[in-house]
Amino acid sequence: MYDVVGHERAGALLRAALAAGRVHHAYLFTGPPRVGKTTLASAFVRALNCANPAGPCRLGLGEGTPCRPCRLIARGIHPDVRAIELPEERSKISYKEIEQLQAEVALRPLEARYKCYLILEAERLSDTAANQLLKTLEEPPPGVVLLLTAQDAEALLPTIVSRCQEIRLAPLPAAAIAAHLQQRYALEPHAAQHLARLARGRIGWAVEAAAQPEALQRRDQALAQLRQALQGGRLERLQLARALADQWTAHAQVVRETLRLWSEWVRDALRVQLGLEQRVVHADQLDALAEVARRLEPPHLRAALATLQRAVEDLELNANPRLALDVALLALPTGWRTPPAPGSESPARRA
Ligand SMILES: [Zn+2]
Repeated sequence: MYDVVGHERAGALLRAALAAGRVHHAYLFTGPPRVGKTTLASAFVRALNCANPAGPCRLGLGEGTPCRPCRLIARGIHPDVRAIELPEERSKISYKEIEQLQAEVALRPLEARYKCYLILEAERLSDTAANQLLKTLEEPPPGVVLLLTAQDAEALLPTIVSRCQEIRLAPLPAAAIAAHLQQRYALEPHAAQHLARLARGRIGWAVEAAAQPEALQRRDQALAQLRQALQGGRLERLQLARALADQWTAHAQVVRETLRLWSEWVRDALRVQLGLEQRVVHADQLDALAEVARRLEPPHLRAALATLQRAVEDLELNANPRLALDVALLALPTGWRTPPAPGSESPARRA
């Protein structure tokens, strides 16, 4: 449906609304990370504006030439379609960005049937931005469709949720993911099934891992380093800090990404501690995350997260990278709990 893997029910619902001319002025796509929220929302934006009545045009290789609106939307350059997407280094969508969106919303479309605004990760709207967005949701100009994505509707203002039609996306069955990887990426059945299992229902993750196996390896390496640092002493931590600082001169971006990855992963471990496994971003890492969640207390994990985020900020502010990284790695919590070795005496008896 809509050139999207899975999510048949959601696709059918959107298609029916369009066919009946009953398009809502706002949709909220919810579901776990990388499950296909943005992909389905973008396909719907194309369906809303496609020149082909049976649209949207398919975009895959060997699917023929897509119409002009579909082509422009897919390339992110349609004049009446805009996405608000937060860069990784910022944590909130600002009031200013929503204010600017509102100024644009009020103008007539240049060529589209529906002016469309995607607000990705709407849970990251600042409070003032969310309140401002509410004004547009309350009185939307005709022909404007707002499409929000979020992991969970509960993370948004209830007043925002109540003005959107929610489209809930569930993790896909592993068999559907494996079939797609075999068809589209020509993976061997065994490799496709392996990745599909690791993906835990997140098709986007599986596709990325299939397309870039090296990226997955780099990520695994970086995460192994973090686990070692959390368990290790001063020496291991300083060595890792030095290795990163040496990388900084030539590959600052790699170091930034490593720190962001680490923050994201620690945030995942906190989610596991709270029993929110469904919302974990690195779902294939659940075993390693569960171990960290067991070995470190919640305050230690929160401290680790704060430390890593501060390091990202310090580096952005042009702090001395060697110093910033030394400080960050040494400030990681040291409360790693080692379970007693089998057969050893319990501390109570030894005392
Ligand atoms: Zn089209």
